[in-house]
Amino acid sequence: MTKDYQTEFLERIERTPTSVSYRFKKPEGFTFTAGQYMLVDLGDELVHPLSLSDCPEETEFIEFTKRMTGSPYCRRLESLTKGKTIIVKGPAGKFTVEVSDDSLVLIAGGIGITPIRSILKSLEKKRVPLCPVILIYGNLNREDIAFRAELENLKLDDYRLVHVLSDATGMENAYQGFINADLLAKEVPDSRSAHYMISGPPVMVTAIKKALATLNIVEERIRTDVFIGYD
Ligand SMILES: Cc1cc2nc3c(=O)[nH]c(=O)nc-3n(C[C@H](O)[C@H](O)[C@H](O)COP(=O)(O)OP(=O)(O)OC[C@H]3O[C@@H](n4cnc5c(N)ncnc54)[C@H](O)[C@@H]3O)c2cc1C
Repeated sequence: MTKDYQTEFLERIERTPTSVSYRFKKPEGFTFTAGQYMLVDLGDELVHPLSLSDCPEETEFIEFTKRMTGSPYCRRLESLTKGKTIIVKGPAGKFTVEVSDDSLVLIAGGIGITPIRSILKSLEKKRVPLCPVILIYGNLNREDIAFRAELENLKLDDYRLVHVLSDATGMENAYQGFINADLLAKEVPDSRSAHYMISGPPVMVTAIKKALATLNIVEERIRTDVFIGYD
């Protein structure tokens, strides 16, 4: 149920040169499902929806990960000191996994990885037998890949990670360019029967939906998490 919770700032963790995770004490009674978001209120009307990038099974804290843009909101985040309290309202959202036998294709653009990281860690921790999972993860370059080591080393039965970089310098086995229909057709052999979850900036989500339409993927198989606020 969506509720207001007061919580204490614990620590910040730099994920890439432009994205930072912020951890807070898990408020008493706060529960969520991997893939959900919360409204993070820093005071003075600085409020943004932010996905939980930790997973429900990590019980000591809650975490979100913000792309740093220099906005007033980011500046307020950077001024947080240990023990400072903020309000989070949530959880909310339906970008959550319904496990089936069909392949699950997770497609993230940049900071759109946050709910997907939560989903994947949760699946790993639950250790349930699972359908094939493919993560297609688009970024600018290799420095920009948040959560890279853990996503490359997830212990899931049938899991594959495909990196797609605008600049693939120094990354073997990464596609150079954008995620498009050709790439999806190549990487998802059973594309018509798979389920798709797409998360990222509006432009990216729209482009992937168009690409999937050209592959005749029906809309019922596509779910999206659109990070409004980014170009
Ligand atoms: C469900 C959801 C989950 C999200 N999860 C994440 C996440 O995990 N990590 C992350 O970095 N970002 C996430 N976002 C985006 C985030 O909420 C901010 O919009 C974004 O980070 C821009 O904020 P800023 O402080 O960098 O820039 P700002 O200067 O605050 O915003 C940039 C521009 O976007 C507009 N804008 C900002 N927020 C909104 C809004 N909610 N609706 C309409 N316009 C808006 C502003 O008016 C401004 O013009 C998520 C968004 C949604 C909807």
